[in-house]
Amino acid sequence: MEETRSTCPYCGVGCGVVIEHDGVQITGVRGDPEHPANFGRLCTKGSKLHLTATPVVIQHQRLREPMKRSVRGEAAAAIGWDQANREIAERLLAIRAAHGPEAIGVYISGQLLTEDYHAFNKLARAVIGTPHIDSNSRLCMSSAVVGYKQALGADAPPCSYEDVELADCVLVSGANPAWAHPILFRRLEAARAGRPGHRLIVVDPRRTETAELADLHLQIRPGTDVALCHGLLHAAIWQGWTAGDFIASSTQGFEALKALVREWTPARAAQVCGIEEADLWQAAEWFSTAPASLSLYCQGLNQSSAGTAKNTALINLHLATGQIGRPGAGPFSLTGQPNAMGGRESGGMATLLPGHRDPSKAQDWADIGRLWGVADLPGRPGHTAVEMFEAAARGEIKALWIACTNPAQSMPDQALVRQALQRCELVIVQEAFAHTATARYADYLLPAATWGEKEGTVTNSERRISRVRPAVPAPGQARADWRIARDIAALIDAGLGRAPRLAAQGAEELWLEHREATRGRDLDITGLDWATLDTEGPQQWPYVKGPTPRLYTDGRFAHADGRARFTAKPYQATAEAASAQRPFALTTGRLRDQWHGMSRSGSVPGLFAHEGQPVVRVHPGDAARRRLAEGELVHVRSRRGELVLPLRLDGNVPPGGADIAMHWGEEFIGAQAGVNALTQGAFCPDSRQPELKFSAVAIEPAALP
Ligand code: SF4
Repeated sequence: MEETRSTCPYCGVGCGVVIEHDGVQITGVRGDPEHPANFGRLCTKGSKLHLTATPVVIQHQRLREPMKRSVRGEAAAAIGWDQANREIAERLLAIRAAHGPEAIGVYISGQLLTEDYHAFNKLARAVIGTPHIDSNSRLCMSSAVVGYKQALGADAPPCSYEDVELADCVLVSGANPAWAHPILFRRLEAARAGRPGHRLIVVDPRRTETAELADLHLQIRPGTDVALCHGLLHAAIWQGWTAGDFIASSTQGFEALKALVREWTPARAAQVCGIEEADLWQAAEWFSTAPASLSLYCQGLNQSSAGTAKNTALINLHLATGQIGRPGAGPFSLTGQPNAMGGRESGGMATLLPGHRDPSKAQDWADIGRLWGVADLPGRPGHTAVEMFEAAARGEIKALWIACTNPAQSMPDQALVRQALQRCELVIVQEAFAHTATARYADYLLPAATWGEKEGTVTNSERRISRVRPAVPAPGQARADWRIARDIAALIDAGLGRAPRLAAQGAEELWLEHREATRGRDLDITGLDWATLDTEGPQQWPYVKGPTPRLYTDGRFAHADGRARFTAKPYQATAEAASAQRPFALTTGRLRDQWHGMSRSGSVPGLFAHEGQPVVRVHPGDAARRRLAEGELVHVRSRRGELVLPLRLDGNVPPGGADIAMHWGEEFIGAQAGVNALTQGAFCPDSRQPELKFSAVAIEPAALP
């Protein structure tokens, strides 16, 4: 029996795993005791990873050879790689010639490795020449990216997991790490057990398992996070809990913010948020006066039409109270996916360029053109996720290349997304798993290698780069994602009569190209190499002469003048409002033991023990008023679509709220598109992240047939 050290492919905690195998089949998995994210622990999902790679799963769930669907709606037939690559390149070239490169969109995933991201970035921008490349990470953390950039000057989470243990006060806002980041939550639990004066404040409309642990649960109305932060800041200013010296020496813009929050008295903020004023004062005192306060935040802030405002309002609080740049202090955004951070670093998104460069800046395009040896890059930002599918639905984007993600389940407003896929002349789906909802729209299905079979790197929420290593060969003809992109890119370049622009021969070569793009940037990793990662283990960036556990420790930030910026954004209501016709505020979220659209976790029966079926959860009081009973089938209707689901009475859901887990797709709820049949594409104007956390819905008894 052999062992290979790698990284868990599920969440952004990025735990190290030891894969047990015989060189052909993966037989077991355990936590890597030397990995600094988890020190040997794994959560339920991670500990069952080997069960996603059994011979039965590989035979029945995996895509193992390239397939072509000649007629939409009919079965796809196997073809060889040569034919698939040639036909795809020819069709992309034909669309490019007829409609221009902007008629092609590339939609990728935070599940991809950094090397894959880099390859797809070159494929889209340098080879095809389209600006339209975006990632499903747009749905989970783009508000955090923009929040950090606006406030601190760079997209760099300043903290380490160690800070969870060093903080005296932890504010968890819009996150449920007990379910979504379980191993990090275990570290928080353990830290509290040894610290009698430790304070945990949880801000969440739902009473989650994380909130159960809290000293103070602020059960705010959905979408009122900015009002809460403004009220907390008002209280801190009023009481003199702000850090005057730090504000004077290290920040800009405090007076404008002070003027904005003047009207946000704790009484008003508490009234808007639907909480007790005394609780708001208590939270302000604990957060502001603790020796070190840390905030952990995730989709509850990010997935919002005011996502950037929510992020910056929370960072304002850190800056005003000096809770940043010290052990245990800082605003710490948690990433949902295993390599959302790698996508940000390599710039594989419509609003980013490699090395944290900005596609709205000509100089940054010039830098990348020089690095890549390409003079004709698109030179402007492209469509973000929702915009890309809107453009396809309008017929402007004619071809979509989708890799390692399942937009026909995960994107909001499924009616529009499916219309877009239907309308495209060419849909290429590059996937490890054969039965995703998106695969049904594919003209070509390209089999990709996945966890346990791939080589490369990922970066977790604390900026720590870990190696991903192959233990066994990919099944059938499945190939590494970067290689699929490269081989078709070579044919496109040949068709255009030029030398290959994506020519790397392996994952390490791609990583070295990526590394060069970080030189002199805030995330500079030019002092790091794979040999160091192999001998000394995962490392945190920036890494020039060594790792950097914590940023901004000298009070200097990444803006040109070294000062952080207070951001005075007003509170705004959600894009939709609950009404008499649609009185429930629907939110979506994760279950503890499932992952995304279940393409991987759904193959493990044991992971259904925690929750075995899709349900809509509502507060028992709301159900009683509407004479709805536990288990009854109900229609859940939004402006965009409807679902029929069993009702679950749950006192942890706030009155007026409704909750449906994001994971369930068509195979679990019949001919329905999952919760995103109901959600909306309205997005934050700064981050372009859609508002998945609030849709107004009606819930009524389902009519009997
Ligand atoms: Fe994997 Fe996240 Fe669980 Fe760690 S906490 S084992 S990274 S799913």
